[in-house]
Amino acid sequence: MLDSVDNVLIDCDGVIWRGDQAIPGSPDVINLLKKNGKKVFFVTNNSTKTRKMYADKLALMGFNATDDDVFGMAYCSAMYLKKVSKLQGKVYLIGSNAMRQELEKVGIQQTGVGPDPISGVQMDWANVPLDPEVKTVVVGFDEHFSYMKLNRALQYLNNPDCLLVGTNTDTRLPLEGGKAVPGTGCILKAVETAAQRQAQTVGKPNHFTYDCVASQFGLDSARCLMVVDRLDTDILLGSNCGLKTLLTLTGVSTVADAEAHQESGCPERVGMVPDYYVESIAELLPALQG
Ligand code: PLP
Ligand code: CA
Repeated sequence: MLDSVDNVLIDCDGVIWRGDQAIPGSPDVINLLKKNGKKVFFVTNNSTKTRKMYADKLALMGFNATDDDVFGMAYCSAMYLKKVSKLQGKVYLIGSNAMRQELEKVGIQQTGVGPDPISGVQMDWANVPLDPEVKTVVVGFDEHFSYMKLNRALQYLNNPDCLLVGTNTDTRLPLEGGKAVPGTGCILKAVETAAQRQAQTVGKPNHFTYDCVASQFGLDSARCLMVVDRLDTDILLGSNCGLKTLLTLTGVSTVADAEAHQESGCPERVGMVPDYYVESIAELLPALQG
């Protein structure tokens, strides 16, 4: 299988690390893939880091990677706004400092990062001061998300010409021991509910995530493998784009989940069945060392 691909698109959380812990053996696998002449790209729905922050995190864990190999949602959203939305005007950004940096890097002006300045102040909420240059609301992971931010997004989106773009729809971020915390999908759902419209989303399973990598590096989809831990976002993207797909069982989805999709016979669910699965990415080691 590895001989039939030139490019490997790697999902991060649940595949090569869990939070700040590398999955044992994953740096060796990635470095050997590169040594064997494969191009390796890191594709994550997480919008809280810039490409540089990811490259630094990868280097600290022992992976060979450069900024250009990383496709996180802070960067991909900036590309989406430029290339797909053909953005004009400013962005009202519900998101992180990293998102602000990636947007600014490509010349997109934004407002909104950090705690809302009038949160908690008793005032006429339907008439909060708005920036007349804002033409798009962008929603990513925001630890300062608040009622006031939700309200402000709604006031911008009351203008039917104002676009709504979300980084990704992951609703829960799984942690060790069966624990979980709310993901960006929860924040996005709140904004969509208030504004009574659906956002365009950038991250997996949207085709754009793959297109972003493919257009920059001239990838042939028939010679690409995606290695991921989640069926409903990642495997779906891989099958929609005609990539080979490999599920690792170190993250969200299980073999039983994949079997349930397979047995459903439902065309949308069959697209969530991986071509291959392994317990951990480390299982690729013998094939690469041999
Ligand atoms: N979004 C956030 C904010 C996260 O923290 C994570 C995982 O840590 C994700 C999305 C999912 O990331 P990935 O696509 O690498 O699994
Ligand atoms: Ca993942």
